[in-house]
Amino acid sequence: MQRYKIAQLYEQDAAGIVDEELIDEVGFAILTRCISILTTSAAHRGRVPCPVCGKIIDHKWDEFVHCEDCDWGLPWKEYHKTYKRKQLSAGGMQPFLEAYVDEFPKAATPQQKMRLIDILISRYHGEYEGGGHRPGGLNLIGGKNREVRAFLNELARGITLPGREQTHREWVEKVRRERPSPWQDPNET
Ligand SMILES: [Zn+2]
Repeated sequence: MQRYKIAQLYEQDAAGIVDEELIDEVGFAILTRCISILTTSAAHRGRVPCPVCGKIIDHKWDEFVHCEDCDWGLPWKEYHKTYKRKQLSAGGMQPFLEAYVDEFPKAATPQQKMRLIDILISRYHGEYEGGGHRPGGLNLIGGKNREVRAFLNELARGITLPGREQTHREWVEKVRRERPSPWQDPNET
């Protein structure tokens, strides 16, 4: 996910510009990312979608993952390697990601799409500032903890969307109360 695209989208929105192309670009990039995260989370809990025919394969750890329908197969260890280091766990974001995947493709206007993007980003920022655990936000946008956190705070400060003032104030409050987080990003040094 390219952060500057999201920033650009918010800037334009604040300026009253409806850039359908950019909304679609960001919106579908987020959609793809959400689907990857949800698929991976499900696989991690024992349900792997067959990459060939789409059948859901139930597996247990350390087994060979095998699709009975089309005969595709891979040792679980190998499958696990494909997503292991990609920060693709849904965590507390799971229901929000599911809602976005469900609703975004049905959104008919650029305004509705923008609204859904905005809801997800807000929830995601809330999750981030909630602290105590590794945020789902890191997985959605990607990048190092401090970068994503700084980006979201920056975005929250700049937001002047109509009807968003309340959320914005809440964000600012959270940022003010911000304390060093108990969690640490193992990828960061
Ligand atoms: Zn299959």
